[in-house]
Amino acid sequence: MKKSLIALLSLCAIAALLALSCTMPDQTPAADAYTWDRFFAESVQEVSIDGQTRYLIEGDILASEMAEVRQYYDSMLEEPEDGSRATVNVIRKSGKRYADTYNSTVRWNITYKISTAINATTRTNLEWALAQWEGVAGVDFKNITGSSATPVFTIRNATASEENAMPGVIASAFFPSYSNKTLILFNDFYELFASGTFYGWDQKAVLLHELGHGVGLRHEFIWTKNSAGTWTQTGETSAEAYLMSAARDDYSIMFYPQYSAYKGNGRLSSEDSRWIAWLYP
Ligand SMILES: [Zn+2]
Repeated sequence: MKKSLIALLSLCAIAALLALSCTMPDQTPAADAYTWDRFFAESVQEVSIDGQTRYLIEGDILASEMAEVRQYYDSMLEEPEDGSRATVNVIRKSGKRYADTYNSTVRWNITYKISTAINATTRTNLEWALAQWEGVAGVDFKNITGSSATPVFTIRNATASEENAMPGVIASAFFPSYSNKTLILFNDFYELFASGTFYGWDQKAVLLHELGHGVGLRHEFIWTKNSAGTWTQTGETSAEAYLMSAARDDYSIMFYPQYSAYKGNGRLSSEDSRWIAWLYP
C-alpha cells in the first residue's frame, strides 16, 4: 500500500507524502469510457529497479510484466465467468475469465519464506495475518524458511533500489498468477508503526491487506461511476455510485485506511471472509 492515495500519483504531485490530506478532484473526463490510457496514467507507476522495468499498480501491487497490468485493467471492465466477485483479480484461461486464485493442489500448500532480516515482531504479525486468511479460506500457508526448496512466495524487506524507486510505498504484494511473487516491506512499514498507528491501522492490518492480494483480491475502492456516468476513483462515493457490478464493502480490508469511505477496523470484514471462502471453499 502507499501512504498517499493512489490516484494522487497523477493528481497531486508525488511530493505526496504530504498529500494524505490532498482533496481528490472530481474528474470530469470528456468521455465516460474508462480507457486503458487513463487507467495506466492514473493508477500505474512505471518503476526501474536495477535496470528492470516493473509496474506498481494502485500503490502496492507490483507487476513484472505488462501483460499482468493489462489483466488488472481488464478485470475491472468485465465480469468473470465463474461468478466470482468483481473485486477479485481476473485472469483469462482458454478465452474465458476466471478469478486469479491458486489451484486446488497449490492452495493447500502455499509455501513461503520469510527473510531472516525481518524482525521478530513483524514475523509474529505475519504469522498472525497468514492464520487469519487460513481461518476463513480453504488455504494452507507453509513456512519453508531454511529449506532449499523454492517457495510459492517470498516475504522480505525492500532493497535500497526498491526504496529509491518507490518512495512513499509501505508494502507491496502480488497476485497468484504473477511471475514474481514477493511481499515487500519498505522502511515506511516499520517507521509508521514504530510509535503508533496509521489512520487507525497497525502492522497486522497492512499485512492482512497485502496477503489479501496474495490470495487474489484486488482493491475494494477501485473505480466507481457516479450518477453522471463519470468514472472516479475517489472512494468517496455518492449514494448513486457503485462499484462495477458489486456492492462495495466499506469494511473490507482491501481498502486503504485513508479513504473516508472506509469504515473498517483493519481486520477482515464479514464480506472479506465470505468471498474468500467462496473463492477457496
Ligand atoms: Zn493493496
